[in-house]
Amino acid sequence: MQAWGSVMREKARSTAQKNHKIAYCRTVFSCVLFWMVSAVVQAAAPTDIGQGSVELTHFPMEYFTDTSQTLDYRSVRQADFHDTMSSTTLGTGAAVTWFRVTLHNTQQQDKELFLNLPKAYHVRSVEIVEERAGQLINQASIDLNNASDHPLMYRGTVVYPFMLPAGETTVLYVRSHVYSHQWFSLAVYDEEHSRRALAAGHLDIALLVGMMVALVFYNFLLYFATSKKENFLYSLYLISGLVWIALSYGLISNAFNVYGDPIFILNLSVFSMPIFLLLFMMSIFETRQFYLKEHRALQGILALLVVAFIYGLFDVSRALKPSAGLAALMMVITFSVSISLFRKKNPLAKFFLIGHSLFVAFNLFAVLYYSGVVQPNYINSHGVGIGIVLEALTLAFIISYRIKILEDIRSKQDELKVQASTDPLTQLYNRRHFMTEGQHLAKKIQAQASSMSVLIADIDHFKVVNDTYGHIVGDSVLVGVAGVFQRLSRDKDIVARFGGEEFVILLPETSYAQALECAERIRQGVAEYNLQISDTVTLKITISIGVTHVDVKASESLENAINRADKALYQAKESGRNRVCGAEIFHS
Ligand code: GH3
Ligand code: MG
Ligand code: MG
Repeated sequence: MQAWGSVMREKARSTAQKNHKIAYCRTVFSCVLFWMVSAVVQAAAPTDIGQGSVELTHFPMEYFTDTSQTLDYRSVRQADFHDTMSSTTLGTGAAVTWFRVTLHNTQQQDKELFLNLPKAYHVRSVEIVEERAGQLINQASIDLNNASDHPLMYRGTVVYPFMLPAGETTVLYVRSHVYSHQWFSLAVYDEEHSRRALAAGHLDIALLVGMMVALVFYNFLLYFATSKKENFLYSLYLISGLVWIALSYGLISNAFNVYGDPIFILNLSVFSMPIFLLLFMMSIFETRQFYLKEHRALQGILALLVVAFIYGLFDVSRALKPSAGLAALMMVITFSVSISLFRKKNPLAKFFLIGHSLFVAFNLFAVLYYSGVVQPNYINSHGVGIGIVLEALTLAFIISYRIKILEDIRSKQDELKVQASTDPLTQLYNRRHFMTEGQHLAKKIQAQASSMSVLIADIDHFKVVNDTYGHIVGDSVLVGVAGVFQRLSRDKDIVARFGGEEFVILLPETSYAQALECAERIRQGVAEYNLQISDTVTLKITISIGVTHVDVKASESLENAINRADKALYQAKESGRNRVCGAEIFHS
């Protein structure tokens, strides 16, 4: 603690000595004049510094905006200052603004104090002039572009140590020259509290950013797993958002001790964030295919943002000037589009509308804050950040909800596919599936010059079963026989119900002789199958089978082979049923 205090004092003293000489040489005449004028110019009521510790974070001060951007301390001190509080925001029209703080020591002892500027990381330059009894007694100036080892710079915060002698009044002038928005904050501490303030900050911001980093990782993983464009766009939106948050709330400066031009370009995230949000909307709602009018509206604002972004690559400061207006326009459009999608009953629109309303509401607070319409508080000064995080969480939910919707659609499609290819009674393939799969398989077998056989089976006297026991028992027989076919065939065989009580089995890589054996095995299997109808009645079923092989050498069609097998089946029926008949082809 002691070491830190003395280092800061030592550094400040050496800078002050240098600045002192220059200032005094330049103003040898003016000093006398100042002294005279200071008697006339009345500063606002001073803030009293009393007994005990000093921790002033909310107290009155004054400001004067130098629109010419050229005035120096001597001319400014006579200007007409306005009252404000120690945390203030003046919008983009106040690029160069002087703040004046008047402090009076009511005690009998000198006070060693520290002026902290916690938002210094986002300005171009800061100048501090310390005045007592109309006399300039110390002066410091910091160019943020070249301040990484400036003695008064502490990780994005300017810390200016000064002495407030017993019973005296000190006036501090702080010139803040910003890139775009003048949002300014100032605190007066004793050594202990100055140290505490520097050590404390940014935990909340680090938490927000950490959460978003985790979401980015998760979504990149999802993108690599599913190749869904929206996960990728969402990740880019999150990255832009977290960069903006880390930059605007001082986390980057605090963590990496960088400020000024090198990181000012990162402000372009204020454009890339809505750009990726719009692309995300287009992707997740599929606006191009389903909502063309809304798609055009989104495209319009997207084009404006892209132009602003490109312009910003050359001149960030000027590009940022219309950013509040652009943000407002974009919110109106995205909000209207989400309402329109909601009215058109898009299932995701409702959630998007909730998330986006939160985003818009908090951003509205922030826009009022940035443009200097309202005085700062935690909510409006962190409005964009809070809005981004709330919307990001809702979008994460939308992504998972969409995955669920897509999964439901896919499983329904799979179910329909299965339904379209199977026979509902026996759960075997149906004729249509058999023919398409069979033709596909026949082509493969022909290409490989392998062998393939086909057999057709028909239940013997099935009409009698129906007539005697009824259709329900007939159906059970069909299911039972189908079970036997499946049990006695191989995985690579295609077993199908061809129609009525007729079944067909395609046997790939099977010769005619093997097919005859297989048919015989199945015939026996069915013959041995007993269907228990009641306690006393057991039904015995037989089938007849026609067998042939596909003439692979002659590139015979499957239909042709089936017709031949059907003729063999007819023979089996004719020659007494419950038997296998074959039709073999001989090549001369
Ligand atoms: P064959 O030995 O000559 O084949 O005599 P069959 O009685 O089996 O042949 P037929 O073609 O005369 O009769 C077939 C019967 O199959 C007629 C039809 O009512 C019955 N059938 C067709 N589909 C179904 C079905 O899904 N369920 C039931 N229960 N019966 C069916
Ligand atoms: Mg029959
Ligand atoms: Mg039949």
